[in-house]
Amino acid sequence: MANDADTETPASLLLWTLLEVSERAARIARECRSEKELFELLVQEKTGKERNTRFLHDFKTLADVFIQEMVKHYLTEKFPVLRTHIHGEETNEFTNAKGHRIFVEMKSTEGETALLLEQVLDGNARAAALLAHAAHAEPRVEESVRADFERVRPQLRGQEIPLDDIGIWIDPIDGTYEYVRGLWDEDSKGGSSEFGLNCCTILIGGYRRSSGVPCIGVVSQPFTTPQGGSTISYFSYGNVSSIRRMPLTRDIVLSSTEDPETIKKLSEKFTVMHCAGAGYKILNVALGLCNVYVCSKTSTYRWDTCAPHALLEAQGGGVRQFLTDGPILYNVGDKAAARNAAGIVAYRDANVLQKVLTLLRQQAP
Ligand SMILES: [Mg+2]
Repeated sequence: MANDADTETPASLLLWTLLEVSERAARIARECRSEKELFELLVQEKTGKERNTRFLHDFKTLADVFIQEMVKHYLTEKFPVLRTHIHGEETNEFTNAKGHRIFVEMKSTEGETALLLEQVLDGNARAAALLAHAAHAEPRVEESVRADFERVRPQLRGQEIPLDDIGIWIDPIDGTYEYVRGLWDEDSKGGSSEFGLNCCTILIGGYRRSSGVPCIGVVSQPFTTPQGGSTISYFSYGNVSSIRRMPLTRDIVLSSTEDPETIKKLSEKFTVMHCAGAGYKILNVALGLCNVYVCSKTSTYRWDTCAPHALLEAQGGGVRQFLTDGPILYNVGDKAAARNAAGIVAYRDANVLQKVLTLLRQQAP
């Protein structure tokens, strides 16, 4: 961090550490697509070829688990109190082709991490070394992200959240389908893409363990060009956010797999756009590109929503349950309860949200 030690607060140290681990995660995500040895493992899952070993089929899961463990490693190194409060979709236990149980984790040296990964990767030393290197090498946070951080840092004073009241939800790569498919939307409209690598996000969200309310968000886009490029990160801590509002392009963002009746009703009264990735859709609302995101289905989880939800809270918006209008809280205990089972609505402006919900709840005449 470009700073003086005496001006650093726990808030700024935690936020900066999250930006660094997100940069490390982004690098791993890019390397899995750009390095031949890793990319071949990734697309084997896609094509379904060579599913003869359980592991090859699960390479995407291994990349997710490894990123999650890497985040855990660097966060707890600086903030030991967070150790048992970092959650995600995956557990770190793997069974390799020989039937051995292995716990994937970051070791203290790159060599040790590579050796461990090699066991899960069925002896693929080159792939193991590449992954280990990407995780251990020093992160270089983008200049623009660093500048945003320096801009908001003075506002972090007075926003301190006690570390022993913070829990974390991670989604190592949201938009998996787009990530594996690897397309690029050349025609992004007003800054928003319908599909492709642009819709992939790394989501690291913090919540208050006492209340369940989201309070820290880091949402990163690891792909800024079809080849990879650098990382764009948006972040918030308490009421402070890095976001500079962008011009509105559409009223509402939806998944293309949203219920056809809901799409029809909304399209009659509002301008609607579709894009991939739950994290990316909420990010579009947080950036001001859309006013509302409606997801009537049960397809999202707390790890998808926590980080971008925090970005919205910092700006006076939020995420609520679609069916019940109840709050979405994040201190839910375990994975089994992590599904957003009543759907979600994400909004910047509660008045616009109300108009959308009123329309959807009108009975057909
Ligand atoms: Mg996800």
